[in-house]
Amino acid sequence: MRTIHCSVVCSVILSIIFFNCISLAADTKISYSAAMPFPSGHLFEITLTVENLDSAIDGFIDFSLPAWRSGRYNILDFSSGVQEFSAEDKNGNKLDWAKTDKDTWRVKADGSNNIIIKYKVFSNEFSLRTRGLNDECGFIDASAVFMFAEKYRFSPLTLKVYPYGSWHVTTGLDKLNGEENIFYAPDYDYLADCPILIGNQKDHEFFINDKKFVVSFPPDLNYDADKVINDIRIISIAVCDFWGEIPFEHFTYLLISGPFDYGATEHLNSTVFSVSSTTFTNKDRYNTFLSNCAHELFHTWNVKQLRPESMDPYDFTKENYSGELWIAEGITSYYEDIFMMKTGFRTPEKYLEILSGNIQNDLERPGNYIQSLSESGFDAWVKHSGNAQNKYISETDFYKKGSNVSTLLDLEIRYNSGNKYSLDDVMRKMYKDFPLGKGGYNNVDFIKICDEYNGKSLTEFFSGYLFGTDSLDWKKYLSYSGLELKINYDQEKPSLGISTRESGDRLYISGVVPGSPAYQSGLDINDEIVAMNGYRVRSSSLNSRISDMKEGDEIILTVIREDKLREFKAVLKNIKPVNYKIEKTEDPDKLQTEIFESRVGSSW
Ligand SMILES: [Zn+2]
Repeated sequence: MRTIHCSVVCSVILSIIFFNCISLAADTKISYSAAMPFPSGHLFEITLTVENLDSAIDGFIDFSLPAWRSGRYNILDFSSGVQEFSAEDKNGNKLDWAKTDKDTWRVKADGSNNIIIKYKVFSNEFSLRTRGLNDECGFIDASAVFMFAEKYRFSPLTLKVYPYGSWHVTTGLDKLNGEENIFYAPDYDYLADCPILIGNQKDHEFFINDKKFVVSFPPDLNYDADKVINDIRIISIAVCDFWGEIPFEHFTYLLISGPFDYGATEHLNSTVFSVSSTTFTNKDRYNTFLSNCAHELFHTWNVKQLRPESMDPYDFTKENYSGELWIAEGITSYYEDIFMMKTGFRTPEKYLEILSGNIQNDLERPGNYIQSLSESGFDAWVKHSGNAQNKYISETDFYKKGSNVSTLLDLEIRYNSGNKYSLDDVMRKMYKDFPLGKGGYNNVDFIKICDEYNGKSLTEFFSGYLFGTDSLDWKKYLSYSGLELKINYDQEKPSLGISTRESGDRLYISGVVPGSPAYQSGLDINDEIVAMNGYRVRSSSLNSRISDMKEGDEIILTVIREDKLREFKAVLKNIKPVNYKIEKTEDPDKLQTEIFESRVGSSW
């Protein structure tokens, strides 16, 4: 893709045109403001003014706060942070209000055609990338902070931000007529998909063609700006080139600093990352960050534009169930690895090593044989509580398995079309056929387009791998690109069948393998291990004690479970650890070589 620098003249012109549209076409005026006079108190002060209501209404108007935010498929009950709600007319007369459900405030209009509501939002959830405010910065995902009136949800609006002290605003929203802290959005859904960072962040820019990209770093982070910006630029070019057309005028990477690399969230023309002090100093973490950049930017097309039918438009009031989340998340995860390889940030060898790990995880994950991939995405909404290891046993991970099924699907289409077509073509056709705002797509639509490029029906493929729980035939599909799956067995060793985690000086069971000695004995996740055979143990000493024993030996594990001291007796069993490795075939044919090379972006 061609890379040039350009001025911001076009966006200013767009702002003027847009604002004129607001004044001329829309009688009802909706304006928000957000202030943060005392950041340490974690309270945003919000005002929402609705002027010139359709007609002077005697009845009421409902204001709601979403129950969730896009990109995180959990009910988050944002109304929990709302306090000091009040409503008045333009003359300052108080209006009566009452809550009608947990997320909705009903205001009696009393004949007024101008209503102003005010409230504060307690915001201390930076890690959820929803809302946060402290003495270092503020972050707003509008769906977690700004209420909307359903009747005016698709009306244009403005937002004025009052930054604290010398802070400034970085966001994907456009400025209204170039005003420093006043922004506009065509509707509430757009506002809800443009997160806002307020603080002393450092904003860097680069351009891809005439599109401006901004990368906003926390001020206290240690990083080599030139290198990081250039690396993000390389990744961004690869993703933009893939799709061929860019659905935004500018794009913003917002980075929020915290104790951990929590992950990232996609938005319409921006993305939010939780980064830590080691994100840019640790090579593996940095590569994960770059990989996430590819993932989140890819989402700008796949899930922000091209959406499952249950999410176009979003229903902010409740769960948006979708058996297509594997396309949104799994295919995006598949491509993040492909982009890392094609841009040279990872070698094809490293990719095959990662894929080997994915295969091991796929084959050994018990949940993959219990729950289908489609069902797993549908049930994303009920995964909020419980512990990960139990889910591992009973559920499929639609990110990982979605990525694995995408790998097979890409290879299948390449093989059957003589490498003329691939999953790339399917995704680009999907993007063209299902533009945002037209109601979205479903699995049947997706399968139909796959069939077209595959040249023959994929019914069996999808009924086994998407709607069923068939074991993925890795050997067959890898062979299409001249690769072989080698399975190596390590030496047998005694095993209890648990994984552990340390918290301070305490040791807990974090996982129990089904059918293992620990499972049979009744040991459970979150049991705090105190002693083994009468001796206090740490993680390393537990492992070394077990490795000194042999099959058939008895272990008595003393644990604390719900404040009670308990003992469990287990008999060790030998296991044969398995290693999966992908190797190149010695004598690949022409098609195998072509498929391999076009996927990895380098020669055999
Ligand atoms: Zn994602």
